[in-house]
Amino acid sequence: TPTDRPATSADWLRRDAAAVWHPFTQHATWTDDTPTVVDRAEGPWLIDVDGRRYLDGVSSLWTTTLGHGHPDVNAAITAQLARLDHSTFLGTTHTPGIELSEALIALAPRGRGPDLTKVFYAGDGSSAVEAALKIAYQYSTQTGHPRPTFVRLDQAYHGDTLGAVAVGGHELFHRAYRPLLLDTIGVASPGSRDHAPRERAALAAAELTAAMRDHGDQVCAIIVEPMIQGAAGMLDYDADYLRLARDLADAHGALLIFDEVATGFGRTGSMWAADHAGIVPDLLTCGKGITGGYLPLSAVLAAEHVYDAFLTRPGDTAPRTFFHGHTYTANPLCCAAALANLRVMAEQDVIGQAARLGDRLGKLLEPLAALDGVTEIRRLGTMTGVEVTPRGERTGFRVCQAARDRGVWLRPLGDTIVIMPPLTLGDDETDLLVNALAEALDEVL
Ligand code: PLP
Repeated sequence: TPTDRPATSADWLRRDAAAVWHPFTQHATWTDDTPTVVDRAEGPWLIDVDGRRYLDGVSSLWTTTLGHGHPDVNAAITAQLARLDHSTFLGTTHTPGIELSEALIALAPRGRGPDLTKVFYAGDGSSAVEAALKIAYQYSTQTGHPRPTFVRLDQAYHGDTLGAVAVGGHELFHRAYRPLLLDTIGVASPGSRDHAPRERAALAAAELTAAMRDHGDQVCAIIVEPMIQGAAGMLDYDADYLRLARDLADAHGALLIFDEVATGFGRTGSMWAADHAGIVPDLLTCGKGITGGYLPLSAVLAAEHVYDAFLTRPGDTAPRTFFHGHTYTANPLCCAAALANLRVMAEQDVIGQAARLGDRLGKLLEPLAALDGVTEIRRLGTMTGVEVTPRGERTGFRVCQAARDRGVWLRPLGDTIVIMPPLTLGDDETDLLVNALAEALDEVL
């Protein structure tokens, strides 16, 4: 091959196939789909190695809330790099870690439930969930008696580490790893589309109530994705369910965990999904948008009463320390990126922008709901799912491929097309996104 020719997507994909193992990917067929080889990005645009531009309609993986290359976030990371690249959070502390904790506590949801007053860092959504599960179990052993199980929702997704898979509700993932998983109690999803809205709410409430009545003293926590189950296909549900979960957790001495990894930082049109219900959990996990998508970071926000149970006290016969933490816990570059993201969010009213973008998306998508082949359009803020009726193999995927041909990058969840653009997406780009989707639906359905 000539050496002066720039490498094309095809060249890179050959090298990729020879050396790379991708997440959640079937490699026997991966290159048949000619994946995009991303080279750079600007604002809401991804640009591949052949120079083709794609509007990033899913914010990378639901993360890039400010779009790519925001000058303030870039500058904050660069400034932090010049000052302190990394220093362990075990035995030392650092200023961006302290400042970010203060900022997160100030932004924590308020309402019925305890104030969230302490921050424990992790590296991604799954590892935040993993930490929260261990905290909840250890809390039970240190405040009463060991409660070895969790209540989880059918169709939930909380990540791919073992604890997170166990509290998820996807049979596919349970089947693959069953002998390795914790015991959990699965209850009906309040967002399940198997029943009409009123029935599904009643069924879910009844199952949660029964699970806590029958097993409550063995349950250390109820864990939910508040208001909307993202990876299940954007299954939104009523806030009343979260009020019930708060009541039942309190009545049975269990903790309530809200997993806001997908919903946090403005994604649902408010800072937290919890804000829609006015309910505060005992533990809140967050990740994804925390750094605006620039660097990997996540956190568990904890109530004071939870933190307090981990403090040594007179007469203890066993240590109360939380035995958990990673090499890169609270990496200063990540903390600096998160601080810059939160500053931009406040200065540019990104939550207001997200709420307006969500409304606009809702209006523009309305006509698509009437299309033959579109089963349902679900949305909370900018978390949007367009469910299509299967027409042959991989219908959702083929719709996304057809959108990609029109310059819009989308990624489906089965036959639900996800739309989760940067929260700051402009009107013209929003029009382009919806028009490309409409044409793609027309082509495939
Ligand atoms: N929790 C929720 C609600 C999620 O949606 C996800 C990922 O989509 C996770 C946890 C796992 O996060 P990560 O992929 O960063 O480990």
